[in-house]
Amino acid sequence: MSQSTRSIIKRNIFWFRRDLRLTDNPALLAAIAESDEVLALFIIDAKIEKDSGPKRLAYLAESLKSLDKSLANKLHVFSGDEVEILKNLIAKHNISEVHISQEYEPTGAARDLIIEGAGIKLVRTGSSYAVAPGRVLKPSDQTPYRVYTPFYRAWCVHGWRQAVSAPKNIKLVAPEAADRNFAKWQLPEGAKITEAGEVAALSRWNEFKAKNLASYDTNRNFAGIDGTSKLSAHLTWGEIHPRTLLAELGDSTAHDVFRKELAWREFYADILFNNPHTDHDYYALRFKNMRYDSPGKKFEAWCEGKTGYPFVDAAMRQLLTEGWMHNRTRMVVASFLVKDLHLEWTLGADFFMEHLVDFDIASNSHGWQWTAGCGTDASPYYRVFNPIEQGKRFDVDGDYIRKYVPELAHLDARQIHEPWEFLDGYSHGYPERIVIHATERLESLARLEEIKGE
Ligand SMILES: Cc1cc2nc3c(=O)[nH]c(=O)nc-3n(C[C@H](O)[C@H](O)[C@H](O)COP(=O)(O)OP(=O)(O)OC[C@H]3O[C@@H](n4cnc5c(N)ncnc54)[C@H](O)[C@@H]3O)c2cc1C
Repeated sequence: MSQSTRSIIKRNIFWFRRDLRLTDNPALLAAIAESDEVLALFIIDAKIEKDSGPKRLAYLAESLKSLDKSLANKLHVFSGDEVEILKNLIAKHNISEVHISQEYEPTGAARDLIIEGAGIKLVRTGSSYAVAPGRVLKPSDQTPYRVYTPFYRAWCVHGWRQAVSAPKNIKLVAPEAADRNFAKWQLPEGAKITEAGEVAALSRWNEFKAKNLASYDTNRNFAGIDGTSKLSAHLTWGEIHPRTLLAELGDSTAHDVFRKELAWREFYADILFNNPHTDHDYYALRFKNMRYDSPGKKFEAWCEGKTGYPFVDAAMRQLLTEGWMHNRTRMVVASFLVKDLHLEWTLGADFFMEHLVDFDIASNSHGWQWTAGCGTDASPYYRVFNPIEQGKRFDVDGDYIRKYVPELAHLDARQIHEPWEFLDGYSHGYPERIVIHATERLESLARLEEIKGE
């Protein structure tokens, strides 16, 4: 290419991060509108590799493959230092601007500031939320909400933009072989995760809409029923935008409950944006002074799904094989870790970070803190989930336990939640309880008393 052609063509980078899709991606449309040619880029960040276990990395690898396919195999993929990679590409391709969807969580936001500090022009358009964090404020004093229900009402009143279509045509910079450094992350043997990518996300949404959305309000709490959308990983990686989902919701109770769940994701992102330290620290600080035990054998049993509590163990084994866990059981295992084993919520949150394919720092840290009693709207600390009763209520027939805990598959619905009550409860090698729930409940309440005055 001659020097004169180089200077006439306007090239911009579109840097995909947590928006691995073409449909309803306003930042991508902005990049296209401002360019003659777009260089599509993904950078494998050292932090993702460090923090994620093999299931999450395998999910990302598949999602990148799917994105690359929809870009006619023109995705540039690099791993390493973002500033260095961007500077090299800018110089090599005579790039004017780098277009992005804005990130709001502390690590992503700080990284973008460093990039700008290095003299790289970032153009931000949209985010992975219907309403960007920081926008919903109390009308009375323009401060952020701290409680979900009034946030939800104000979030609805604020409203969101309409979804936009995928671009019809993108003129993309063709990568050289050296620009395509896809990682070869493999799914560990025996693991079975949800299919990744934009096509899978849209197809799952259509399936859920047709089969389960109308009964979402009644079925969403039952762990053994396929009653929830299982869109969380798609939302986390931005393979689908929440606006796309919101646009199709009406006024029925089921639709309203689903909208409210999407709003929890937005609420926690808003809380984290306004309280960045809560990504790994206590929202209600007095809980930092609580007496906690050190992790040891009991923590190991929790991680491996061998606590002797069937509903807890089924859930942990679901996490280990599928990289996903039902919301009901996320609450149950979180309560068990903090209030039956007296361990800090951060240990559980880190374990979830490693294993969840839908890991999202705001939903995870605040989901944990809500259950541990130290978060927003706190489910009060003295509310201790009973792992046996929760199982009986939300896995009535025991199908969920039977699916993930084969040592209990021979027991019927009446026996499966309390194998210790039946003669052959342990005949297939199921472990005995590592603690007695009733005793530990009292212990956790006693520990709460110790910090009550603070
Ligand atoms: C301890 C704990 C940790 C959690 N960690 C995560 C996490 O890392 N990533 C994550 O996406 N969700 C997390 N959640 C929230 C919730 O459990 C999952 O979003 C949900 O189970 C995903 O399944 P689904 O897509 O079928 O949800 P659906 O019931 O179909 O809900 C639709 C969408 O709404 C959002 N949503 C639903 N419930 C919640 C909630 N309580 N908080 C925030 N968003 C919600 C999710 O984006 C979800 O995909 C956590 C909850 C707890 C209690």
